[in-house]
Amino acid sequence: MSANVGESVEVVRAWAAQEARGPLQLHHFALEPLGEHDVDIAVSHCGVCGSDVHLVDDDWGGGHYPMVPGHEIVGVVRAHGPAVEGLPVGTRVGVGWQCASCGECAACKAGQENLCRRQQRTCVGRHGGFAERVRVDSGFVYPLPESIPSAHAAPLLCAGATVYAPLRRFGAGPGVRVGILGLGGLGHLGVQFARALGAEVTVFTHSEDKEAYAKELGADRVVRSDDRAALKAERGRQDLILSTVNADLHWSSIVQTLAGGGTLCFLGIPTERLSLPIGLLVEGQRSVCGSVVASPAVMREMLEVAAREHVTPVTESMSMDEAERGLQRVRDGLARFRVVLSVR
Ligand SMILES: [Zn+2]
Ligand SMILES: [Zn+2]
Repeated sequence: MSANVGESVEVVRAWAAQEARGPLQLHHFALEPLGEHDVDIAVSHCGVCGSDVHLVDDDWGGGHYPMVPGHEIVGVVRAHGPAVEGLPVGTRVGVGWQCASCGECAACKAGQENLCRRQQRTCVGRHGGFAERVRVDSGFVYPLPESIPSAHAAPLLCAGATVYAPLRRFGAGPGVRVGILGLGGLGHLGVQFARALGAEVTVFTHSEDKEAYAKELGADRVVRSDDRAALKAERGRQDLILSTVNADLHWSSIVQTLAGGGTLCFLGIPTERLSLPIGLLVEGQRSVCGSVVASPAVMREMLEVAAREHVTPVTESMSMDEAERGLQRVRDGLARFRVVLSVR
């Protein structure tokens, strides 16, 4: 069954900020017509990501209001355009940060749609998942493995993809030493995925109380990131470090923990500029880079691995009516570790 393209206008309940930093309030908007390649999704859950806070607060500029954030969307296919295959009505699906790409550029053709310069983000310049419905391109809609509950699937769609993609890109697996810097929303999933892929996992954290928890999640080792002597003892050890922190650290000491050919990959975005003695990169051929979400192929693989290896996000559940409270918890850094809103 598919809906007719150009069907009559439908009004949707959503939760929107009316201005930069404004509270999320009930908001109604008319759905865009369902395109040929689009899927119409009845939203059941949506995670709250740090990026939603940055968008609502207009930290990156160019925000359009009213703004409906949300890009860790789980729901059920309600209808689809005539060109959509493999996503029948009733399928439980997820949508992440990216919801479209051009399909024509070198990045798209290479299967790196997340690097497409003409991509669309699910809740940037369009209404996101803090709503009862979303309509997006079927190429960015992922059927969810049955064994992953919807409230757990939501954070995987952005946070999970964000940590999984660089682990795969840099070959995390048996015999590879992976450091996870920071044990929060991204880090707690990074530990589980790195472990699932067979890597040796070291968590770098500044909080003593997270040490036991890191080991519970599967970390082999824990190192205090604020202890220069502890970092010194780690020199030359890690093959890959994923930095999930937003704080500014003593990056030279972190880079020195990399082995020859090792990579420090930034996922979080600290506010300060990065300053490093370039000799640290030349000596030992170390690299510093960044990573942004995942391509559709990697998204699908990430969901399979999460289901098979029981990667489980730690979540706080709230009703979508409490969207403002959920967003504020993330803004205040209080979420343990991801807030997931559900439509009731
Ligand atoms: Zn493209
Ligand atoms: Zn996100």
